[in-house]
Amino acid sequence: MRGEATPFPLWYHPLYTDGIHPEARFPRDRYVRLLNRLTTNAPHGAIDVRTPHAVQREVLHLAHDATYVERFLNGELDASEERRIGLRPWTPDMIERTMRLMGGAVEATVHVVQHGGFSGNMAGGTHHAHRDFGSGYCVFNDLAVCALHAITTLGLDRVAILDLDVHQGDGTASIFTDEPRVLTVSVHCATNFPFRKAVSDHDLVLEPGSGDDAYLEATQQGIDLCLGFEPDLLLFQAGVDGLEADALGKLSVSRGGMQQRNALVFDAAAASKMPTVVFMGGGYAKPIDATLDAFEDLFLAAADAHRRCTTTA
Ligand SMILES: [Zn+2]
Repeated sequence: MRGEATPFPLWYHPLYTDGIHPEARFPRDRYVRLLNRLTTNAPHGAIDVRTPHAVQREVLHLAHDATYVERFLNGELDASEERRIGLRPWTPDMIERTMRLMGGAVEATVHVVQHGGFSGNMAGGTHHAHRDFGSGYCVFNDLAVCALHAITTLGLDRVAILDLDVHQGDGTASIFTDEPRVLTVSVHCATNFPFRKAVSDHDLVLEPGSGDDAYLEATQQGIDLCLGFEPDLLLFQAGVDGLEADALGKLSVSRGGMQQRNALVFDAAAASKMPTVVFMGGGYAKPIDATLDAFEDLFLAAADAHRRCTTTA
């Protein structure tokens, strides 16, 4: 059976794209366009696109206030709460989109815990969602829910969250303020949203315009901190809004720098046989093509790392 490798499992649902209103300022087409690129450009059999189920609401309660969950599901958030989340105007599909997106993250997490290697969800990385409110395009915090699901339901002892998005993972940090079983590491730009930062276990803060070298140095520091925690699972928020072409991020990282970032994370995870879930995160280049290039690089690299991990000798 030499050379048999299992494909990289990647969760996607059409509502990831269509659940956002076409007139929303958020570039919803990035999801379906990325799917089309990956299905066209990935080596045959390298990626297995899977359809998520809606998450069980009880799973959301692991990281979120039950009243907030109920109010969102009943369409009862007020205008200021919706405005803080963004993605407006909302459609009725926003609820199903959110539950499928969270389901994809949880299913990707269960998969790597059971089988090892890498998995991914082709949306999410919703690190600005707090316990009882959403913010910055994030309704619920998939990283936090998956970390707590892995500990309480799957029996893991420790989970590390490595957040390399240009924006700080403030929701994740606040949810895990008093949780020693979860390590939060955030590499981000000092002057990007959120303007009131939370306190992660480790905040590696970069000045605007830092460029590749500083970003890669901070990435390596973040990886070392995560591995030093000796986690059973790594959750990787892989936002590419640190790109110089990004309309929101200010870090001026090149496409090649992002590729090196991905290699640092995936090589370290593979070398230590660390089950790893890739959460897509932010990316808002105008036009969106530079973002799609970087996300395509990301998931192709994840698929290649997964193949190397799971190929039988
Ligand atoms: Zn971001």
